[in-house]
Parts: sequence; C-alpha cells; structure tokens
Amino acid sequence: MATIFSRIVAGEIPCHKVAEDEEFFAFLDINPVAKGHTLVIPKQETDYIFDLEDPLLGRMMAFAKRVARAQEAVIPCKRVGVAVMGLEVPHAHIHLIPITKESDMYFGGEKMTITQDELAEVAALIRKAYK
Ligand code: 5GP
Repeated sequence: MATIFSRIVAGEIPCHKVAEDEEFFAFLDINPVAKGHTLVIPKQETDYIFDLEDPLLGRMMAFAKRVARAQEAVIPCKRVGVAVMGLEVPHAHIHLIPITKESDMYFGGEKMTITQDELAEVAALIRKAYK
C-alpha cells in the first residue's frame, strides 16, 4: 500500500507544495513547529533515510538545500534547521525548519496554530523563491 506521502505526491491527498523535481517533492508540514516548516521526500518509497543509496541521498540533500535557500529568502530566520526522525511516517523525509533559536526546533511541545490560508500563503512565498 502506498505511504501517505506517496499519496500526497500522487495528488490523492492535498498538500501545500513548495517544490518538485523528477526525484523529490517538498511540501509544508501539516503540523508545523515553526513558520515555513517543510518536509522533503524522495518519490521513491523507502522508510529509513539511511537505507537510500548514497547518490540518491546526496541528490536529496542538494534538493533540500535549494528549498532551504528559498525558505531563507522569504521567512525571517537565522538559518534553516534540519531534522530527521521518521518515527511517524514510514517514508523517508527531511524536516527543514526556519529557526532563530534552538527551541524553534522543539518537536515535543505544542504545535503552531496556523490556518490553511496562512499555510497556502507561506507555501506560495517559498515556491516563488525556489530556484
Ligand atoms: P516524523 O515521521 O518525522 O516523526 O514526523 C512526520 C511529520 O509528518 C510530522 O511532523 C507530521 O506533522 C507530518 N505529517 C504527517 N502526516 C502528514 C500529512 O498528511 N500531510 C502533511 N503535510 N504532513 C504530515
């Protein structure tokens, strides 16, 4: 059965898309810990990120870097933090989180309250800045 993230790539489940190429897809996290919190996934279905072949993993990080550059351009932050956990969704993904302080990357607390309209607006900004 397809993972929830593959169903997002296929357009079966809606998302706020940020960027896409032949191999990778980036979209806003539905439960962001900070404004602009984005997930980068390979279209290839692999659960654990460190089971990806080295070349694919390298290209995934290069794709994530381009997304991070776009986030930095439009979301006030000191830098974009990177996290990988994968305990919830069994489809490899990198969290890209615009941060100004360490606690902006805290996953164990209350998530942000953000409307669908606000998510759409943030996604549009990042999409526009993505090169
Ligand atoms: P992890 O697997 O890294 O522990 O967490 C999975 C992340 O995916 C969580 O931050 C969660 O909010 C996000 N997520 C789970 N399901 C969906 C979904 O259907 N759409 C989006 N956009 N994000 C999701």
